[in-house]
Amino acid sequence: MRGIVTDTAPESILRRTLKDVIEHKKTYNMMWFKTHHKRKDALGFAGNQLNIDANAFLAKINYKWMFFANPVIVRTSSEINKSHEACLSIPNKDYIVDRYDWVELDYEDDLGVSCSRIFKGLDAIVIQHEVDHLNGILISDKGEKK
Ligand SMILES: [Zn+2]
Repeated sequence: MRGIVTDTAPESILRRTLKDVIEHKKTYNMMWFKTHHKRKDALGFAGNQLNIDANAFLAKINYKWMFFANPVIVRTSSEINKSHEACLSIPNKDYIVDRYDWVELDYEDDLGVSCSRIFKGLDAIVIQHEVDHLNGILISDKGEKK
């Protein structure tokens, strides 16, 4: 498959919890290759959106693309904001979604090194959107249509 997965039916890979990454560099390379012509106007790609069964995503954080494997949100703000979001897997629709103001994420980088970092603002929104994807959750499940 060349494009972004847009099949949101219950049996679609978009609805699955993905397998943990074991070969970090290989997974990163595959995701980087598959998004080559798609990164310009995007903020993130989850493994299942690329038809790759890997618990990993690419996200544009502070203007730079980063790879996140086996991510877990370990702490959040108590404050929640309304976020206006779109998704490459749900073309031409926008949703209003509740998102934490900041999140602390444990993850592994493309070399398999364990990392932990706090993300705020737009970065926090992107992280939450992509972690949802890896758990089979779409913005159409939790958001109101705008
Ligand atoms: Zn999405």
